Amino acid sequence: PYVVELRGVTKVYAGDVQALRGVDLTVAGGELLAIVGPSGSGKSTMLHMIGTLDRPTSGTVRIDGFDVAGLSDRELSALRGRSLGFVFQQFHLAPGVSALDNVAEGLLYTGTPRRERRERAAAALERVGLGHRLAHKPHQLSGGEQQRVAVARAVAGDPPLLLADEPTGNLDSAAGAEVLSVLRDLHAAGTTIAVITHDAEIAEWCPRRVRVRDGRIVDDAGNGADPPAG
Ligand code: ADP
Ligand code: ADP
Repeated sequence: PYVVELRGVTKVYAGDVQALRGVDLTVAGGELLAIVGPSGSGKSTMLHMIGTLDRPTSGTVRIDGFDVAGLSDRELSALRGRSLGFVFQQFHLAPGVSALDNVAEGLLYTGTPRRERRERAAAALERVGLGHRLAHKPHQLSGGEQQRVAVARAVAGDPPLLLADEPTGNLDSAAGAEVLSVLRDLHAAGTTIAVITHDAEIAEWCPRRVRVRDGRIVDDAGNGADPPAG
């Protein structure tokens, strides 16, 4: 089954704002794709659909095999905890809390015993190159390092999909490159990653680029399942 399956998805906000006008998108395990488009094109709304943070007006959203329409809000939040890792532009780390504890807290919902949470957190920090920063608090880390802690927290539970929304938006280019390099390593190790971005350079860096405009997918370049348009 696909990790992400959107079929005929529309989203209409109050005021008859048609943010998505019929989106079909499938993502298979192991892909690294960018969802790219100008401001207002519907990227954030797509993120909310894929992230099960909101429901479509019509159409089908299936994440990790589950049809979102058939799940209660409580079941949706369980699905999010189990199947999705989120990284945002803001790092959203708890201040005054060590990198290790920030990452371990992300595993609380899983019911993993405390000791194993800390082991998994340490392993995740190791994977993003921060094995030597476990006891550091956010204010003792650079921006790039803080975002890598956020990435470690997002992948510590090995979710089938990592959703990164403008992950380098708050970083200078060197720190941004550091974070992208971590995403590339995770992808190489098998993690499925969708990066939402308005940055064409970051999009070019992804093997598959889904271009959104006016609520529709207008190009899906590098998708092995379909020949590139044009
Ligand atoms: P992007 O992330 O590409 O900037 P969005 O998905 O945020 O695009 O927005 C798509 C369209 O939907 C825009 O016209 C935006 O103004 C509108 N929109 C987004 N969120 C809401 C909302 N909560 N209520 C009303 N309109 C919204
Ligand atoms: P920005 O739009 O300033 O880049 P973020 O990247 O932090 O903001 O968030 C993107 C979207 O995801 C926002 O609409 C926000 O409401 C939502 N969001 C942010 N943090 C979380 C979270 N921890 N859990 C669920 N949704 C979130």
